[in-house]
Amino acid sequence: MAIYRIFLVAMVLLLGVACSSNKSIKQTDSGAVAITSTAQKDSLPFEKVYKTPTQWKAQLTYDQYHITREKGTEQAFTGAYYNYKGEGLYHCVCCDLPLFSSTTKFKSGTGWPSFWAPFNTVYVNEVVDSSHGMYRTEVLCNKCNAHLGHVFDDGPKPTGLRYCINSAALNFKAD
Ligand SMILES: [Zn+2]
Repeated sequence: MAIYRIFLVAMVLLLGVACSSNKSIKQTDSGAVAITSTAQKDSLPFEKVYKTPTQWKAQLTYDQYHITREKGTEQAFTGAYYNYKGEGLYHCVCCDLPLFSSTTKFKSGTGWPSFWAPFNTVYVNEVVDSSHGMYRTEVLCNKCNAHLGHVFDDGPKPTGLRYCINSAALNFKAD
């Protein structure tokens, strides 16, 4: 009986330790979530733009509309910027937000303008795209939700990223 009592006391002690450690983890988790959501809300330096398909069609060409609002892709080696070497910023063709700089543009040989970083990471949004039987990361304008292209992890240094962007989604403005 003495051994049984010792075993019982040990079990109660173990349960007590287990319960108290669970509680502290929960408190830490809830605090971290609150901090993260506040930071994301405060980090957008612009108002989001929402327009109807009719409004977008009125301001865009057929190709610009198809690519940015219907997630189309222009033919390789046909866009205005895949081999363009001007110095300046590439703006969103829909809402004019500066999205990519000529200082991060590189020759990828793919036939689409390629960059190793966005102008500002907050200005683009990246979401998983599992369409067309592929698993890719879609790149969108974070202000107006325009489809821009995709980002891959086979780019050059320093980031190792390759933002493969449709020319028709961009509007270049020289420095
Ligand atoms: Zn935009």
